[in-house]
Amino acid sequence: MSHDLDITEFHWLMDMLQTIDVGLVVLDRRYKIKAWNSFMENHSGLRPDKVRDKMIFDVFDEIPKEWFLHKTRPVFLLKNRSFTTWEQRPYLFKFKNYRPITGTEKFMYQNITISPLMSTTGEVQNICVIVYDVTDIASNRKQLETANAKLQMLSRTDGLTGLNNRRFWQEQFEAEYRRYKRTGEASSLVMFDIDHFKKVNDNYGHPAGDDVIRATADMLKETMRITDVAGRYGGEEFAVILVKTESDSATIFAERLRENIANLLVTHEDHEIRYTISLGIAELNPGIKSAAEWMEKADSALYRSKEGGRNRVTVAS
Ligand code: GH3
Ligand code: MG
Ligand code: MG
Repeated sequence: MSHDLDITEFHWLMDMLQTIDVGLVVLDRRYKIKAWNSFMENHSGLRPDKVRDKMIFDVFDEIPKEWFLHKTRPVFLLKNRSFTTWEQRPYLFKFKNYRPITGTEKFMYQNITISPLMSTTGEVQNICVIVYDVTDIASNRKQLETANAKLQMLSRTDGLTGLNNRRFWQEQFEAEYRRYKRTGEASSLVMFDIDHFKKVNDNYGHPAGDDVIRATADMLKETMRITDVAGRYGGEEFAVILVKTESDSATIFAERLRENIANLLVTHEDHEIRYTISLGIAELNPGIKSAAEWMEKADSALYRSKEGGRNRVTVAS
């Protein structure tokens, strides 16, 4: 009969299934292993005669039984194909990764396809689990994601202090102003500038100045709350958004920061450097018509602190 497989053809077919570079596993309705190609043998170290007629869950206890049943039932019942990608589940079979290029990955990432195997009567008595090794793709993708996350961090961060850089802080600031417009919940802006900073540079050198800027940022991080948004606004100018904070509380924060800095001793080489900061505060109110105007208010309060003798806090009227 013409549609019957010739024995030689059958042999070729088996040969192809054996040598193909994907895993092939045939399971029956009781989840017993009926076929096991050489990909599976090579990666598991288990020969076909070792696994034949064994329940797949008994051979591989890493396979989550409930999940696998859930995935395969529709294949038996509805004759649907079923898929799972490495992003959903990194692997079905916990095989070691031997690839030289992606040697950093411990395990083989796998995409899995599960297909119904129709008998001549149209019933599905067996299913075929196909295992694709996608370690290279997964590894590249993960590296790319890590690199992107790092780049994004870098593009937002000031290198010297680790605070938000001016551009990113400004975005947050404008978003905060828009939030206020929607909710009417006031936040406060604190701007501050190191007093007589030129003298620090002149007396001790630029690297000492950098140390002072860093120490100021560290003290700011220590003094503020996690929800506050701090940025390095300029050379030795800083800005902090105190989210949902009125000027009374902002003043307490600003005074504490001013004192902490005044009590701070920065040592650079054999120099001990003491310094102060001047601060300006502006709380949002309905009279403020833009983020820029909010900023101007804090900035002129800061200017008044400078004029008034420095090392002090001024609240915008
Ligand atoms: P005032 O009390 O009025 O603020 O006096 P000041 O000397 O601090 O004056 P100003 O704020 O204008 O000083 C800014 C100086 O900061 C000028 C610049 O050389 C220095 N500067 C800016 N960026 C950096 C930096 O990244 N590192 C160092 N070491 N110095 C910087
Ligand atoms: Mg300045
Ligand atoms: Mg200054």
